[in-house]
Amino acid sequence: MRIHTGLGYDVHRLVEGRELWLCGVRLEHTRGLLGHSDADVAIHALCDALLGAAALGDIGHLFPDNDPQYKGIDSKILLREVVRRIGSEGWTVQNVDVTITAQAPKIAPHIPQMRETLAAILGIPTADVSVKATTTERLGFEGRKEGISALATALLTQ
Ligand code: MG
Repeated sequence: MRIHTGLGYDVHRLVEGRELWLCGVRLEHTRGLLGHSDADVAIHALCDALLGAAALGDIGHLFPDNDPQYKGIDSKILLREVVRRIGSEGWTVQNVDVTITAQAPKIAPHIPQMRETLAAILGIPTADVSVKATTTERLGFEGRKEGISALATALLTQ
């Protein structure tokens, strides 16, 4: 059996007048993340972890941010396409782990819904989908609420 791990990382800027989407869930907040798509930083990191494990490039290569067909797109659609591509290469997702770094809003109340949302797209049990959140003790761009970052890992087998 081949066992591959992948790592993904992404950052988006927080601005006024945008919806905040994280792990496919909309959170009530005064600001949202800026991006060509819905800017779901956590799904973007997860896509890169999955693509990285399968050595299939990265999300920016697959879905260029100057392509009008991806403008404002729901990142869940991008994740579905990534899952389809790694599946067509014979890979099976075993587990994923996502960490969101944000000073605000509080992420914890939304984690169960985030895990269920990702598990449904990945086609794996919720028990195999971890979503965690942390702050940076007000340090750095996340701590100043200028942006939100996300890290993800994925384990694939073939
Ligand atoms: Mg991104």
